[in-house]
Amino acid sequence: MRSDIEALLRPDLRGRSAYGAPQLDVPVALNTNENSYAVPPVVVAAITDAVAAIAGGLNRYPDREFTALRSALAAYLSRSGTAVGSEAVWAANGSNEVLLHLLQAFGGPGRTALGFTPAYSMHPIITTTTGTTWVDGMRGLGAEGRFDLTAASAAQQVTTHRPDIVFLCSPNNPTGTALGLDVVEAVYAAAPHALVVVDEAYAEFARVGTPSALTLLAGRPRLVVTRTMSKAFALAGARLGYLAADPDLVDALRLVRMPYHLSSQTQAVALAALAHTDLMLDTVEAIKAERDRIVAALPSMGLTPVPSDANFVLFGHLTDAAATWRALLDAGVLVRDVGVPHYLRVTAGTPQETTAFLDALAPLAPTHRLEAP
Ligand SMILES: *Cc1c(COP(=O)(O)O)cnc(C)c1O
Repeated sequence: MRSDIEALLRPDLRGRSAYGAPQLDVPVALNTNENSYAVPPVVVAAITDAVAAIAGGLNRYPDREFTALRSALAAYLSRSGTAVGSEAVWAANGSNEVLLHLLQAFGGPGRTALGFTPAYSMHPIITTTTGTTWVDGMRGLGAEGRFDLTAASAAQQVTTHRPDIVFLCSPNNPTGTALGLDVVEAVYAAAPHALVVVDEAYAEFARVGTPSALTLLAGRPRLVVTRTMSKAFALAGARLGYLAADPDLVDALRLVRMPYHLSSQTQAVALAALAHTDLMLDTVEAIKAERDRIVAALPSMGLTPVPSDANFVLFGHLTDAAATWRALLDAGVLVRDVGVPHYLRVTAGTPQETTAFLDALAPLAPTHRLEAP
């Protein structure tokens, strides 16, 4: 950055670099956990019709309260068996903006947010962008797996740091494993004055029997569950994220959102997709099968996958993750170096993409993996 611009910048932003996975034009892009399957033609037609129907009205501001969309999102969440009312739902341009609204309303200078690293790298970025202090909590303490988080460890760290906001990510990005609800309950109880945010961006991919924190919302007014249409719903380009929480907490988010933050076309596109929920989620089981195929294939290469409830797999036992990342890219496969030494993260997509990834990795593995201990 030019020094005269740097001098204008907020002191806490100086020297920082912008977030972003490389958007490279490669044959096999498995680096951002998008849904690899295109929007089905029936839904493309419904979206096109819906946008055509509102286009003439774009001279007017959109429905500030996104009333129809809230009802549709509430109905979608209620499908899982936990009734969620539309007044308990909030939405914004991606769940990243939902998280920003939460930080703007409940964080800020003098307040702290705690997360358990490694987790979603946007949590600390959004936190510090709002002048909130970030505290790095730890995973793997007293747990079976290196990236596991037990209820006792999470509660103890919350008690030590006394944060105003706690981030839990389940299934956790980048490690893949979902948290037990006992962890959410323990954190909530250990932090009697904190907002507890459970980021469930990958909930639809969780293995059978993995409960959602939605089931804990009743009677817990400080609990927030965030979701997105970017992953299982195959709508990352539309930018629509949402949350479920106590209606009064949701009401407070109106204090910080920009007026008319959800455009008419965003609302129309999301509604059209939600009207075809079953079709939009049709690929989820196929993607889970590819995830399980990756998990099953890696040990025979001498690599260690982390159990996954998401549409990606973190795998380890690499000598130099950056070197393997580069070698895979040279073979036309883009994965993600998430900054965890000896590990890389790969998205589960189509069967062809899995095959391309495994075929590219297999010949590398003998020279790229760590020696057996
Ligand atoms: C991908 C992802 C999101 C989604 O962000 P959007 O802004 O909704 O696209 C949120 N949380 C986690 C943990 C993610 O991995």
